[in-house]
Amino acid sequence: MKLFGSSGTRGVVGDGLTPEFVLRIAKGAGTVWDADRIAVARDTRTSGEMLSNAAASGLASVGVDVDRLGPAPTPSAVRYAGETEQPALVITASHNPAEYNGVKLVGADGIELGIDDLETIENHVLEERFATAAWDGVGDVREVGSANREYVADLLDSVDREAIADADLTVALDPGGGAGALTSPQFFRKLGCDVVTVNATPDGHFPGRQPEPTEEHLDDLRALVTAAAADVGIAHDGDADRAVFVDETGAFVPGESSLAALAAAELDAGDTAVAAVNVSQRLVDVCTEAGATLELTPIGSTNIITRIRQLRAEGTHVPIAGEGNGGIFYPGYRLVRDGAFVGAKFLELVAERPVSELVAPYSAYENVRINLPYETDAELDAMLDTAAEYAASADAEPDTTDGYRLDYGDAWVLVRPSGTEPKVRVYAEARDADRARTLAEEVAEPLREAAAAVE
Ligand code: MG
Repeated sequence: MKLFGSSGTRGVVGDGLTPEFVLRIAKGAGTVWDADRIAVARDTRTSGEMLSNAAASGLASVGVDVDRLGPAPTPSAVRYAGETEQPALVITASHNPAEYNGVKLVGADGIELGIDDLETIENHVLEERFATAAWDGVGDVREVGSANREYVADLLDSVDREAIADADLTVALDPGGGAGALTSPQFFRKLGCDVVTVNATPDGHFPGRQPEPTEEHLDDLRALVTAAAADVGIAHDGDADRAVFVDETGAFVPGESSLAALAAAELDAGDTAVAAVNVSQRLVDVCTEAGATLELTPIGSTNIITRIRQLRAEGTHVPIAGEGNGGIFYPGYRLVRDGAFVGAKFLELVAERPVSELVAPYSAYENVRINLPYETDAELDAMLDTAAEYAASADAEPDTTDGYRLDYGDAWVLVRPSGTEPKVRVYAEARDADRARTLAEEVAEPLREAAAAVE
């Protein structure tokens, strides 16, 4: 696909991601979707209102009425789409820095579009096959202010409120200035937790930290956990479809470890879990222990959603799925990644034992990720050719579901281009940090050299 990557379409605002581009996406989606009314939501980015205006304009111009939800977490917009049975366009760049924005497309069934549906819309956009409404057929645009309130109410009905409230937990929360600031503080308070916050004012400049909830961006949350003697720290990305955690000592919990702990609580024999090809050995071990099957997909929520839908259509029970970045699906709740819901499921476990104990069984592995930026397609091609040569000559059978994954028994390494940024990513995991670092560097170094050699 040319326009849509592994999680919608993203770019730098004013440089590839323009109102004109969003307008065309909206016209294409409005033309393809058989819908009288379509919702438009956005995260807190400075460009969000401008791009929402373009989306609403495009939809109205093809004769579709528009519900403007304003700033909302992606899972809130997705819930609204599902409940009202109308599609949604969500203007968000998720975890990317402030200068980025993008569009996620959600179907009338309340599920992000799969690859086939995205391709249909993409073809309409590329070929400019748009419906055109005459003056008396232009869509109406109305503001809808209730989506986030209904979303929080729905969340409260979907988790074990009593168990969480009875545990008297103190929660340190860091929505990062993103859309989660609009819903998560009140959600966790209504769950009966004492909530202390940092970066809880919606602000598209993201003055407190970068929107991606990685360890290096969460120093303030870690300090807050310690200062407030909190039981747990919870951080979201910019559109709050992800949640990662800090333990009661102020230590960052790798997303792979929290996913493993959450999966261990959900999976029974005969179940299937779905994860991306960069899946941690931690989840592999949890599935093995539970007698569950693990299905791997290419990286990106779109691929995971597509695979879950296929499996469920075949009658397979998929209680949990996701990636080690905090983006986790509970398909029995909704087929969406929902940072607040994942946070509450984690609190159900924290009600039983401290976070450090909860994730201790999954702390034996070390992960390394190296990002190799490129500036031209020639540099990208040179790196990918080198990766192919490395995989062919390696002492392991390459899995080519997405990039090249090499499993060495005690460790694995994966190299693949990012679906959202001009970077080739190298991932490695081992029980020993040096082993993981060495494996990743052994792959990354020849790729760096190959890119540097391009004229
Ligand atoms: Mg996100």
